[in-house]
Amino acid sequence: MDLHSYRVAPGQKLELSNWDPNDTGDIADKSEARQLLKIERKRIVALQERLFAEAQQSLLVILQATDTGGKDGTIKHVLKGVNQQGCRVRAFKVPNSVELAHDFLWRYHQHTPRDGYMMVFNRSHYEDVIVVRVKNLVEEEVWSKRYEQINDFERMLTANNTRVLKFYLHISKDEQKERLQARLDDPEKHWKFSTRDLAERARWDAYQVAFHDAIAKCSTDYAPWYVVPANNKWYRNLVVARVIANTLEEMNPQFPPPEPGLEDIVIAD
Ligand code: ADP
Repeated sequence: MDLHSYRVAPGQKLELSNWDPNDTGDIADKSEARQLLKIERKRIVALQERLFAEAQQSLLVILQATDTGGKDGTIKHVLKGVNQQGCRVRAFKVPNSVELAHDFLWRYHQHTPRDGYMMVFNRSHYEDVIVVRVKNLVEEEVWSKRYEQINDFERMLTANNTRVLKFYLHISKDEQKERLQARLDDPEKHWKFSTRDLAERARWDAYQVAFHDAIAKCSTDYAPWYVVPANNKWYRNLVVARVIANTLEEMNPQFPPPEPGLEDIVIAD
């Protein structure tokens, strides 16, 4: 699996329609992917414990996708077993009036991870150049300046010891149709279905343009975007888990040094 091929280089010419959402790299099948995912999860759990103990740096993972793209499933499968003490998930919905009365980054900044923590954003400040753009919620004059503001924000976070990783879960329009149909067919999935999703689906092309620009303009050396082939859930989970595990390894968190003289301590009966 060549993880590098999913990472968008700064300034790289990006054509999302050329990225195959069915790609499964060199993984034979679901059962192989599941075995490998277990290994990645073990790495994440062990490294996250070190990150928490060290309490000097943090990791922010951003998940974006079209509806049914699999953000929730990715969180469920990749974070299984991670100690809740040092890991949080935050989902962002339509902003409320207080949030709208501030600059667009205000509501996100409050939830960036503290030292030692791993934070996952289910949707993020990228909505402010994606849904906001597609639905004309603000003027172009406003959203078009946000790419640079986002890059500045992420640069500032990075300079303050927060690593930023961004994943776009890439599914095809046909796959979305199947997933929406499954939500209609299966009574246990009815709760996931909303007729609003159909209105969003009708804007598929506009969303693809908005995702493209967000990824192309905001994939930086310090906060890269990964375009993850996501038609196959098992491959998607493995790619995301491996990138997170590798990043944590690069961050190289260390247990803090013990208090001096521990070897002389005798615990009284
Ligand atoms: P999800 O689809 O993530 O499981 P919901 O169905 O509650 O959760 O959808 C959340 C909604 O909030 C989406 O329609 C999304 O477009 C919207 N949203 C998120 N962030 C913003 C934002 N900054 N501005 C406008 N709408 C937003």
